[in-house]
Amino acid sequence: MGSHAMMNPLDPEEFRRQAHVVVDFLADYYLNIENYPVCSQVEPGYLTKTMPQSAPLQPEPIETILQDVQKHIIPGLTHWQSPGFFGYFQSNASTGNFLGEMLLTGFNSVGFNWLASPAATELEIVVMEWLLKLLQLPKSFSFSSDGGGVIHGSTCESFVCTLVAAREKKLSQREADLGKLVVYCSDQTHFSLQKGCRVVGISPNNVRSIQTKKSMNFQLSPDALLTAIESDVRAGLIPLYVCLTLGTTSTTAVDPLLALSEIAKRFLVWVHVDAAYAGSACICPEFRHFLDGVEGANSFSFNPHKWFLTTLDCCCLWVKDQSDLTKALSNDYELLKNKASDTKNVVDYKDWQIALSRRFRAMKLWMVIRSYGVTGLQEVIRKHVKLAKHFEALLIADKRFEVVVPRNFATVCFKVLAPNASNEDSKRLTETLLDSLNASGLVYMTHVVREGVYVIRVAIGATLTEEKHVRMLWDMVQEHTTHLLASCAAIE
Ligand code: PLP
Repeated sequence: MGSHAMMNPLDPEEFRRQAHVVVDFLADYYLNIENYPVCSQVEPGYLTKTMPQSAPLQPEPIETILQDVQKHIIPGLTHWQSPGFFGYFQSNASTGNFLGEMLLTGFNSVGFNWLASPAATELEIVVMEWLLKLLQLPKSFSFSSDGGGVIHGSTCESFVCTLVAAREKKLSQREADLGKLVVYCSDQTHFSLQKGCRVVGISPNNVRSIQTKKSMNFQLSPDALLTAIESDVRAGLIPLYVCLTLGTTSTTAVDPLLALSEIAKRFLVWVHVDAAYAGSACICPEFRHFLDGVEGANSFSFNPHKWFLTTLDCCCLWVKDQSDLTKALSNDYELLKNKASDTKNVVDYKDWQIALSRRFRAMKLWMVIRSYGVTGLQEVIRKHVKLAKHFEALLIADKRFEVVVPRNFATVCFKVLAPNASNEDSKRLTETLLDSLNASGLVYMTHVVREGVYVIRVAIGATLTEEKHVRMLWDMVQEHTTHLLASCAAIE
């Protein structure tokens, strides 16, 4: 044994000291977050060029490591928590969540089955039942019926698990070739459904991405779904699964859940409702109507890691019949056998997901809900929606802009209009406007192209975004557009 004491990587007093240093570092990061360009401006390879080629042989103090975080890592971050972040959909955070995340990481308890950490499983059940009530989901999704909820890492995982459940259910009901199963969605459905289909063995040729129209606000049309299903049935194929979206990624369109699920039911098609972004809004009674018809679904999911003050990773999935999931995903291994599982009176969440091991995610969601209460969470949603409504009204009142689709939640989609401008001119102007706004470093937004129209998406939802930030955005939009149109006029 050497002269120095053995290292203890989990010394409680060192943990206390270092964790305080990191908390101070993060608190300062949040104090200064508006000083950083929202979207990182580094060049590719910036970090690999700077970092040592080999791992350090000797331990380094936390202070030295944090200096490098400040100097090298922060410049390469896009600051999703900045109040000027309006890109993609927000991934909002909160103190309650950070502390919950600290606790769950601190315990590092792996609750793959009930026995492996009863609290992890039971808290997840409690939180999922709370949320079920909060969203007024039908009782059939509850553990008190045959249903139940589970926390996955992402909607992609929920897609894969529900696709597998639907596939196994169908193949147990009738003898069929996997190649005959067909999945339906719209051209607005999140692209990860296509990946999920590939993962579970559904050929891309058997995924019907039904075209939507701007004139119908990009909703999936029940008639179009019916036509597609009937045509497949006539061709000897087997309709398997349809994904409906509440709040599409591009424009936050909401599919008519009731009419679509009634059609699906006639053909014994599994209905999944993906409310990744907008599900959170449905905790407010004034938005709950968007969920009408969810009772016709087999499964429903939303991402607290978008708009529920909860950080990645956290996707809540409910199913109407938990045995659909567990029959498809359970495995039986001697090492995991125990008396509690044998009774069948406990939930073993390993049978509700892809991986065996799982994080104690319920801890952070429970902390968030308790820290802010239902009223606090509703207040956050309402604040963002109010800001978006105001921003939309400003755009509508200015003839230089068009709000391309009506706003449903807190995301506004607009383009620049110029006198006598063709669609191509408008696209060029809108794209140039977006680039110049983002280059300022004060704000960050993303775009989509729908029916050939280039649209700037303004997703208002970062936890720190206040009225003054939206006002600043509006001032910038006006100022940059004035410059842009003036320089175009000078060229003509
Ligand atoms: N569905 C919708 C409507 C989304 O907007 C997104 C992501 O933005 C996803 C699914 C994918 O979510 P995740 O990253 O949790 O897989």
